[in-house]
Amino acid sequence: MQFTFPPNNPVVVPVAGSNALFPVHRIYCVGLNYSEHAKEMGGSGREAPFFFMKPADAILAVPHGSVGEMPYPPMTNNLHHEVELVVAIGVGGKNISIADAQKHVWGYAVGLDMTRRDLQAESKKTGRPWSTGKGFDFAAPIAPIHPIFETGWIDHGAIHLSVNDVSRQQSNISNLIWNVAEVIATLSRYFTLQPGDLIFTGTPEGVGAVKQGDLLTAGINQLGDLQVKIV
Ligand code: MN
Repeated sequence: MQFTFPPNNPVVVPVAGSNALFPVHRIYCVGLNYSEHAKEMGGSGREAPFFFMKPADAILAVPHGSVGEMPYPPMTNNLHHEVELVVAIGVGGKNISIADAQKHVWGYAVGLDMTRRDLQAESKKTGRPWSTGKGFDFAAPIAPIHPIFETGWIDHGAIHLSVNDVSRQQSNISNLIWNVAEVIATLSRYFTLQPGDLIFTGTPEGVGAVKQGDLLTAGINQLGDLQVKIV
């Protein structure tokens, strides 16, 4: 048996304060999980959680102390930032209960659900998939993953994003409509979660456009900052 061509290297995210690498399996994302963001996107602020995916190799892993470089993607005139708490799954499972959810979490990271908003808006209007709006190359910048044995269970803490030092997004993890345990429990009814899965848990209000040359600084209390320059 031989490969027809060399397989791709695994997609990995560094682990904070260690040489270890977290191998990525799938990227799940939660839509409209902060009520003020749901309202700014035209919703009621009380929607049930829904999910979409990005390909694992959309990851742009930014090592500690570095500034990631994200190429401005093609086919859009409206690239938006969405700062999010990312949950890294360490133990797989399906039909996970809310009470058991914590046992499945390996750690947490700061991530950006970068979005070609014009393409997503067109998909919403026509009832077509979100893949081109959400699943493009470099669409998932992420900072190193902090193990849960160091952070503890995260259910509150400031989440923020600035562009060129001007604040754009400012909220608290406690404002999640569906908290991390509820997200894991619900998602695991649709998919068998695997070690290596990442869950982007949704963004607070204040999303907006960025352009080439902009410097994004995203952060979550306890998890430090993620810096990305649009190039
Ligand atoms: Mn998002």
